[in-house]
Amino acid sequence: MKIYNTLSKSKEEFTPIEPGKVRMYVCGPTVYNLIHIGNARPMIVFDTVRRYFEYKGYDVNYVSNFTDVDDKIIKRAIEEGVTASDISTKYIAECKKDMDGMNVLPATTTPLATEEIGGMINMIQTLIDKGYAYDKNGTVYYRSRKFKDYGKLSHKNLDDLRSGERNLLVSGKDEKEDPLDFVLWKPKKEGEPSWPSPWGDGRPGWHIECSEMSCKYLGTEIDIHAGGEDLVFPHHENEIAQSEAANGTNFARYWMHNAFLNIDNVKMSKSLGNFKTVRDISEKYDLGVLRFFMLSAHYRSPLNFTAELMESSKKSLERIKNAVSNLDFLMSKTDVKDLTDSEKELLAETDKFFQDFDNAMDDDFNTADAVTAIFEFVKFANINSDDSKSKEYLEELKKKILTLTNVLGLVVEEEKDTLDAHIEDLIKERTDAKKAKDFSKADEIRNKLLEMGIEISDTREGVKWKRI
Ligand code: AMP
Ligand code: ZN
Repeated sequence: MKIYNTLSKSKEEFTPIEPGKVRMYVCGPTVYNLIHIGNARPMIVFDTVRRYFEYKGYDVNYVSNFTDVDDKIIKRAIEEGVTASDISTKYIAECKKDMDGMNVLPATTTPLATEEIGGMINMIQTLIDKGYAYDKNGTVYYRSRKFKDYGKLSHKNLDDLRSGERNLLVSGKDEKEDPLDFVLWKPKKEGEPSWPSPWGDGRPGWHIECSEMSCKYLGTEIDIHAGGEDLVFPHHENEIAQSEAANGTNFARYWMHNAFLNIDNVKMSKSLGNFKTVRDISEKYDLGVLRFFMLSAHYRSPLNFTAELMESSKKSLERIKNAVSNLDFLMSKTDVKDLTDSEKELLAETDKFFQDFDNAMDDDFNTADAVTAIFEFVKFANINSDDSKSKEYLEELKKKILTLTNVLGLVVEEEKDTLDAHIEDLIKERTDAKKAKDFSKADEIRNKLLEMGIEISDTREGVKWKRI
């Protein structure tokens, strides 16, 4: 399996630190608003990376945080007259709803920055003790030039570098020994959340959060660290400087970064008014369509969001769904039970779709080609199935398609599930009515099911149903 590593700017063969295991950390969102569709891209992409590793038999320890203390959260809290924690708690819950809708698996651990302050303070202290950090009137800075590898991820030359602005705009800015130095701890400002520390009350800088949480939950060296490409510098560059200086080990072996999502070929921004939240999309589409749309491009290619592409994603996803429901339908029609020799041959032919799928995913998670392999499979299934085929064959075909769609996190039989649940409920209601000797109600339910195209029969094993 090959992964493009931002560190080496090339595709490298993946070798885990511990055989059979993957430890990965994905920088999570800052929770001060509903997440937008740009934030959804790393969530979907790296969830798919995780799913593919799991499909390949790896045990994946997937850690993704929520940044729940930050200038933007505090600003929003002040605007609304509530606490920062009210804001972050609310938007973490909303984000989880969106992630669920996009079928993003819950992380193995989802740490919150505010619950890990003690560990961050210890890490900052270690950096001070080792001479990599210094305190100036309650602000602790990282001495970037002291870390000899500074710039190795972003491939920037130290002298060309201008430190990122995100966490530098704090009091004491002018006290820095060097403009490249960045903040590890910032002093408390009136009305802001703060924690006690050896350098006075304050709060951690953004970068130290991820260094600490990654180390705490995954160990000093991890396999994969990931996020959007805007995080390469300064965030990930600074994480490397902190973690490697504090722990004395290599931090992450593979650095993965997704490209940006634009809207109608323009950068998404609030001021342009082209800003779309995942929630906005969910009003018009099942979020599975958004997931499909994201995976239809390679994660390192910029992706352009348009109404037309969403419509065509919807149609494409429906093609897979229809093939699956057609197999269900044929299964309910056929009387043939056992697999024939020619069916065995047809099933063996489907190995090629798995190979194509794996080849695509092994090539730095080329989900676009993996989707193509699924479509080839769907075409094959449509051509090679009818009600003269055995149940077992049809069932196998369906199972195989679902194995692949599941790796991409695409739900292709959801409607049937909801329908099934409804049918089961009605059948139970009818059984209860019969037990209570309310036969007219039982008949009424049987007729209602018939109207829905469902025929039930009472057998020794219980009530069975099929589509007619
Ligand atoms: P933030 O909440 O700004 O820290 O962002 C959370 C994650 O979303 C990070 O991995 C960002 O790189 C990523 N991200 C933000 N905007 C976009 C975008 N337009 N396209 C792709 N990824 C994005
Ligand atoms: Zn991070």
